[in-house]
Amino acid sequence: MKTKIIGLTGGIGSGKTTIARYFESLGIPVYIADDEAKKILYTPEVVAELVEKFGNNIFTDGIPDRTKIAEIVFKQPEKLAVLNSIIHPKVGEHFKKWITENTGKLFVIKETAILFESGSYKDCDAVILVTAPIEVRVDRVMQRDGVTKDKVLERMANQWDDEKKAALSNYIIDNTDLESAKKQVVKIVKLVNSL
Ligand code: ATP
Repeated sequence: MKTKIIGLTGGIGSGKTTIARYFESLGIPVYIADDEAKKILYTPEVVAELVEKFGNNIFTDGIPDRTKIAEIVFKQPEKLAVLNSIIHPKVGEHFKKWITENTGKLFVIKETAILFESGSYKDCDAVILVTAPIEVRVDRVMQRDGVTKDKVLERMANQWDDEKKAALSNYIIDNTDLESAKKQVVKIVKLVNSL
C-alpha cells in the first residue's frame, strides 16, 4: 500500500515543530522541510547558484549567511521567488528519496511552514493545521527568538491567515495547551490508522 503523506503546517509560533516532534515520539516518520532546506543551502551546488543569482553579498566568510539572505528576500519578493526556485525543487527531490526509505509505513508527516503558500499541500493525502491565538504565538516567538512584537507581526504578514488555511485542512490541532494538543495528536493517529 502507498505510504500516505500527511502535511503538517501552521503559522509562525503555532507550535508545528513541537507537534511534529510529538508525532515522531509516537513512532511516525517525520520530515521537517525547513531543516532540510537549511542543510541544502550549504551544498556546493546551491552555493554556486547563489553566487550566480545573488552575488557575494549574501555570504559571510564564504558561507551562505541566512540573516543576510532573509533581509534581502524579505524586502524583495522577486528575490524570494529566485531563492525558492533554487531550494524548493531540491527539497522536493530529497523528500521523494526520504519517502522511499519509509515504504511499508502507513503514513508519514511532512512539516512545513509554507505548505499552502508553496502549493505543496496538493501533493498531500491530508493536511493537519496547528493553531493558537495570535497573541500567544507572538509571545512564544518573542521569547524563543528574542525579537520584538513588530518583527513577529511583520513575519506573520507574509503568511496566509488561519481561516484561509483551515478551509483547506482536514484536521485542526488547537495547540494553545500542549497536553490537550497531544491528546488531539493521538486521536488523529488513530483516525488515520483506521482509514
Ligand atoms: P516557526 O514557524 O517559527 O518555526 P513553529 O510553529 O514551528 O514556529 P515551535 O518552534 O514548535 O513553533 O514553537 C514555538 C515556541 O513555542 C517554542 O519555543 C516552543 O517550545 C513553544 N511552544 C510550542 N507549543 C507550545 C505550547 N502548547 N505551550 C507552550 N509553549 C509552546
